[in-house]
Amino acid sequence: MSLRRACVIGHPVAHSRSPLIHRYWLKEHRIEGDYVREDVAPEAIERFLDRLGERYVGANVTIPHKEAAFRKLKRADPVARALGAANTLWFEDGALCGSNTDVYGFSAHLDESLPGWEKRTVTALVLGAGGAARGVIYALLERGVRRIAIANRTRARGEALARQFGEKCTVMDFAELSPRLAETDLLVNTTSLGMKGQPSLEIDLLPLKRAAAVYDIVYVPLETRLLAAARARGHPVIDGLGMLLHQAVPGFERWFGVRPKVTPALRALLLADLGEKERR
Ligand code: NAP
Repeated sequence: MSLRRACVIGHPVAHSRSPLIHRYWLKEHRIEGDYVREDVAPEAIERFLDRLGERYVGANVTIPHKEAAFRKLKRADPVARALGAANTLWFEDGALCGSNTDVYGFSAHLDESLPGWEKRTVTALVLGAGGAARGVIYALLERGVRRIAIANRTRARGEALARQFGEKCTVMDFAELSPRLAETDLLVNTTSLGMKGQPSLEIDLLPLKRAAAVYDIVYVPLETRLLAAARARGHPVIDGLGMLLHQAVPGFERWFGVRPKVTPALRALLLADLGEKERR
């Protein structure tokens, strides 16, 4: 392989902003390489991954293939094993290796936005219990958060996550949120509510602890109604775009040998592509 090429595999994949991010870094570091989209239907994913190394040095994986990619790994790192899903693939001695860098992306953006957050965060409240919630809970526990309440529409999914992650996690219904908000240091939305085309997340922030931070991993729109309401009440807010940018860093380093930086210029490029403006 002369030109080093990586790709993002999804179905659909046309919406993925990963090519914009990786091509920006390739240009910035003057690396002869490319990064493209691969739309692969579910029935074709196994065969595609079997032959990935013939054309690519590695790949990102997005919905709906993260679990299928995990199952194909010869070597999964501890994060991919805990999540049962891989979003970043590379090769070592011809063997397919994988990780899940959403965990890194979530924490790196939080570190950047609110340095020292973990010292002030005893209790977190996580809304949602899908794939993203699993990564967020892993990240919070890894950084020493002592209590995590999980609220999800389908309670059984929340309970499954709590069983997996252990005694620091408790489960509740949305109707029970109010009293919990008073003791919450960090509120994280991992549901798709609030995303463009989805219903908005209706939650009364009045009881939320004054010093609590609010993190919404949805990034279209950049400022969800949840974040707008939190900002209006004076809470520190963290949007989902930084997570998307930071999760790309480890893959680029694996494939192209340079650890890239998430800079204001890169963020501005993505904001323009999303038709968004920075909020302060
Ligand atoms: P997922 O596995 O499909 O989970 C979706 C979650 O949203 C579930 O908890 C689901 O509850 C909940 N939900 C969906 N519709 C709902 C409704 N009408 N009412 C109440 N709850 C509802 O999806 P995911 O992969 O976790 O992704 C979730 C969101 O995170 C998406 O918006 C995605 O774009 C975003 N995300 C962002 C980043 C980033 O880098 N910023 C990374 C990953 C994901 P049930 O269990 O009851 O269905």
